[in-house]
Formats: sequence, C-alpha cells, structure tokens
Amino acid sequence: MVDYSLLPNEGVLLKNESVWHPIGKRNGNIGELILTNLNLIYLKKSAFGGIKEVLKFPLNQIKIIDDNVQVIISKSSGNFCQMELFFINSHEVFIFNSLIKKQVLRWADKISELLTGHEANIDPSERNTIPGFGIATDLLKNTIGTFKEALKEKENVTNRCISCGAPLSGIKGEVKKCKYCGVKQTLK
Ligand SMILES: [Zn+2]
Repeated sequence: MVDYSLLPNEGVLLKNESVWHPIGKRNGNIGELILTNLNLIYLKKSAFGGIKEVLKFPLNQIKIIDDNVQVIISKSSGNFCQMELFFINSHEVFIFNSLIKKQVLRWADKISELLTGHEANIDPSERNTIPGFGIATDLLKNTIGTFKEALKEKENVTNRCISCGAPLSGIKGEVKKCKYCGVKQTLK
C-alpha cells in the first residue's frame, strides 16, 4: 500500500472519492481526486480499496493562455461529467462519477482561481445549463429590466433560449439570435 503526504505548506481544498482517470488500461478502478493549493493528486485504488498508486500533477504545470487556465468541461462517453486539463507535457482527463456538471465546474473554477485569481473560462452555454449558476443573476437583472420596460409602449420580454436556455431579451415578436449558441428565434 502506498501512502501520500502533503508538504507543510500544502492544504486540501477539494476532494472527490469517485473519479476515474483513464490511463493505460481502459477498465481501471475508481480513485480519489484531491486538489491542494499546489497539486492535483490522484489516488489510484486497488480492487480492495487500498491506494495502489499516487499520481501528482503540479498545478504550475497547467497551461495558461491569455490569463485563462486550459480546462474543458465535457461529457464522457457514458454521459458522466469530465474535466480535461492541459498540462505543459500532458493532457489529463478526470471523469467524475456524476451527471451533475456543477460539481465538476467547481473543480475547474477552484483550479482557475488558484492560478489566475478568477473563475474558469468555460463556454457560457455550458455554464448556463446549470440552474442557479451564473445565469440566475443575469436573469434577475433582465427581469427587473423587463418590469420597468413594460410600463413603456413596446413590450419588452425576456425569453429563455429554445436551444440552450440562456436569457434572451428584446421586443416581443422580434427575431433574435442567441449570443451564447447562435440559434435564431422569435421572442414571445
Ligand atoms: Zn442559446
């Protein structure tokens, strides 16, 4: 059994016990993913639950382009949420045993905050499919705007995009293109 120890100045920020890191053999066991202020640590588990191998990915090896951490949130073939990270020398995929994107976004944001001081640069349409995540404040602003505008002659409306669910504001009957996914639609 392998053990892992943290450096004196290293602290655990996030932990998830059911993450699959597909490398080599396709059918590995689910392992544990740990984010510290210095490293992303993956504990490969044996069939009996013991730690078989410790993989360390230093955060300072993650690529940052134009002040954005190179991270992608996507779906695995089994529809699970996965985080792809681009390191200087490798491309690592971590598949979370979860269908909830918000959980994985939290990891991407935390990693990004550590390295750049701001949340991850995730495609807004990806981020906005999660209720209560980012979109809520936009929607609220637009709703308040709509109330004020409603007192005027033209009827301003805020719809949800038929394709991606992002808020879409304008005048009723107007054909508008969603700025997130590009789908054209008539405002109702
Ligand atoms: Zn859209």
